[in-house]
Amino acid sequence: MLLRVRFHGRGGQGAKTASRILGDAAFNDGYFIQDFPVYGAERRGAPVTAFTRYSDGEIPERGFIFSPDIVAVMDDSLINDPLANPFAGLRRGGCAVVNTTKAPGSVLQSRDDVTVLNVDLTGQALRAFGKPILSSGIAAAVARVAGIKEASFLAAVAEELREVGLSQELVKKNVEFAKSVYGELAPLKLSTTELEAKEELVPLALVVSVEGTEDVTRTGNSAIRHTGNWRTYRPVIDYGKCTDCMICYGHCPESAMSVGGDGKVKIDYDNCKGCMICLTECPLSAITQTREGGLE
Ligand code: SF4
Ligand code: SF4
Repeated sequence: MLLRVRFHGRGGQGAKTASRILGDAAFNDGYFIQDFPVYGAERRGAPVTAFTRYSDGEIPERGFIFSPDIVAVMDDSLINDPLANPFAGLRRGGCAVVNTTKAPGSVLQSRDDVTVLNVDLTGQALRAFGKPILSSGIAAAVARVAGIKEASFLAAVAEELREVGLSQELVKKNVEFAKSVYGELAPLKLSTTELEAKEELVPLALVVSVEGTEDVTRTGNSAIRHTGNWRTYRPVIDYGKCTDCMICYGHCPESAMSVGGDGKVKIDYDNCKGCMICLTECPLSAITQTREGGLE
């Protein structure tokens, strides 16, 4: 038995930690394991991939997992992101665990040979922590589906999160959260076969320049990549309270704010990543936040 899991998240969501928790949990269950991430030259909010393999014998393969048995998608804005391409290579008979509020059956409709589990982990994390902390929750969903024992899994959550420096209180909260996610799902009997056509995870095409730097011409380069779909929350300016002081404009780290001809600060929602620095900095509390998708 060799199980391959690929996690897709955004920088800061904990894809790497989730892969490590799963790896540790499988180790606690007596398996041979591998877990590792790949980032690229990116920053918070950019697509991140992490991998876990575990087996009841020595693992004969290394490197990226192109043909996963399970795919875990931590942010549904990645589903149609050509750089992330999260379902690429998902084996027949495999499973996709997707953090989304979308209705069951509405994700990955093109594949009737895989199981898709939609779970609103962000909503559950917001209720548990007040923040979209996802690593222990997505690891819980995958561990449960894969049949990892609860005690092994919860020990791994505590161990990994202590190792990354979380406070005792936050570790305890994560263990409780992970336990509740784990308890809501059931193990799947996975019997998978590899797809014939393999797809590359991150295809890049470089045009070598003799005078300047090379251009990355594929879809997803920074000039044409809109980062507005990375938000969990959307900042909204109340122009009734705003005095046009422009403090928020000066603090936006993404240059996603501009000043219009009317002297009013505007938010470029195509590129605003939802960091909420503008909300924190506004001296008049003229900026509020609403969850994307019209959710509470
Ligand atoms: S939330 Fe505010 S500060 Fe952050 S990127 Fe958006 S506009 Fe800029
Ligand atoms: S910091 Fe607040 S008051 Fe000042 S421009 Fe921004 S929203 Fe308006």
